Amino acid sequence: MDKKFKKEVSNRPGGENINFCFSCGSCTATCPISELDDSYNPRLIIKKILLGYKEEVLQSDDLWKCIQCHRCVAHCPQNVKFAYIMQVLRNISIEEGYYPDSMLKDVTALDRSLRQYRTELIKNKKDLKEVISELAGGDEKDG
Ligand code: SF4
Ligand code: SF4
Repeated sequence: MDKKFKKEVSNRPGGENINFCFSCGSCTATCPISELDDSYNPRLIIKKILLGYKEEVLQSDDLWKCIQCHRCVAHCPQNVKFAYIMQVLRNISIEEGYYPDSMLKDVTALDRSLRQYRTELIKNKKDLKEVISELAGGDEKDG
């Protein structure tokens, strides 16, 4: 446990409001990654930071799941700005050797590829349901 961890996060640009979190869970409820992956929980990540679980947070694969959509920022009643906190965590993780900086480059490249793929699909298809179905791996049902 590292009690200074929350200070380390709040001292960085983007992490300033972490202490305002009152654990309401709106960030998790609106997160599109949490919707697909039960193990990804922004509310819990903040709690772990506040309690000092530094190594666990910085070593977690969860750091790289966020797609920076900022829904959590839009829905937070306390203006905690979790998406920015996630960027702070990624930077600390790389700086302190928990993950190689190639991870950040790989994730950034992957995010860009997915956006490009999505944009191309929408541009080149007339039937939006077909596009949604392809993005969902063909599981999407009509209606
Ligand atoms: S929505 Fe805001 S206040 Fe609520 S748990 Fe998430 S970060 Fe904390
Ligand atoms: S920015 Fe990240 S944590 Fe926030 S809602 Fe989007 S995917 Fe979830």
